[in-house]
Amino acid sequence: MAMQENMQQVYQRLQQAANRVHVPWEAITLVAVTKSVPGSAIEQAWQLGIRHFGENRVQEALPKISSLPPGITWHFLGHLQTNKVRHVVEHFQLVQSLDRMKLARALQKEGEDRGKVIQVLLQVNIGDEKSKSGFHPDEIEDVLVEISTFSHLRVLGLMAIPPYFPDSEAVRPYFRKMNGLFRQIRIPNVQMKYLSMGMTHDFEIAVEEGANMVRLGTALFGERAD
Ligand SMILES: *Cc1c(COP(=O)(O)O)cnc(C)c1O
Repeated sequence: MAMQENMQQVYQRLQQAANRVHVPWEAITLVAVTKSVPGSAIEQAWQLGIRHFGENRVQEALPKISSLPPGITWHFLGHLQTNKVRHVVEHFQLVQSLDRMKLARALQKEGEDRGKVIQVLLQVNIGDEKSKSGFHPDEIEDVLVEISTFSHLRVLGLMAIPPYFPDSEAVRPYFRKMNGLFRQIRIPNVQMKYLSMGMTHDFEIAVEEGANMVRLGTALFGERAD
């Protein structure tokens, strides 16, 4: 597999995008998205220096996580059913897809039971799409105020999956809106550290619009079968 070449290209494109907006590219966290990617390829990416990996499905992720280096930081990215919260709290370091209050309460309860503070990003349905989960942009402020009182949840930022356009330039206004939302939040106990947006198709635009965490699958591992 041409992973090393893919990685070099990704880093170069990331650097160029960061340069255009005068951001140090080292400040951008690259999360390698490994859904449908075998453990051997994840291991290879780890050897090449990638430290953050993201999975969408609990069932698929668990066996991979247990067979891979313990130093990996695992990000959960998918729609999480409350009956699987236990596994995610045990094996993942950041839940990027906190998309509803019911899940916030389930995570808080699991955190309390384990004496563990769970790090999360709020997923924002920035395009207000029926097909996507996430909080509506207008409710983010209230949701954050409420969650900031939860003893075992720590919000570290926002995540978005904007609408898809064949011309990736068309997504720019959505990223810009996310950045506006991200920057305007000032709530005690809520640290807006990560703005997670940008995938293979549009990560350079996301970086130009303020993303400091990008989630890349195809660009690193090639096309998926799904
Ligand atoms: C699959 C996925 C990605 C990566 O998508 P690519 O287009 O392959 O880079 C990023 N974020 C989420 C939430 C995903 O499900």
